Amino acid sequence: MIKIYSLHLKYTKEPSLHWFQFQLLHRILLTNNYLHKIGLFKSPLCYLCQQTTETIEHIFAECFAVKEIWIEVERWILEVFKQFLITSLYFLGNMKKVLFKD
Ligand SMILES: [Zn+2]
Repeated sequence: MIKIYSLHLKYTKEPSLHWFQFQLLHRILLTNNYLHKIGLFKSPLCYLCQQTTETIEHIFAECFAVKEIWIEVERWILEVFKQFLITSLYFLGNMKKVLFKD
């Protein structure tokens, strides 16, 4: 069984990414909301949209700026999958012709 809290050590060798992933997985990422609560920032609002309190969920899923990135990632995945599907169907079509010549 893979322990999710040690994944950051498995997938990258870059120390800054280790630290970032560790903070994210342990929910200790320094958001504006947290920095505001401890008195280091005047505003808890999101750096990008300035409309909503900046939480980890907001930064990675809810913010309109991030949603645009997720839409692009989704388009990219669908395009890769579509190409894979087309290639697979073409291959299967050729296999069918070879196997069932009659
Ligand atoms: Zn935002």
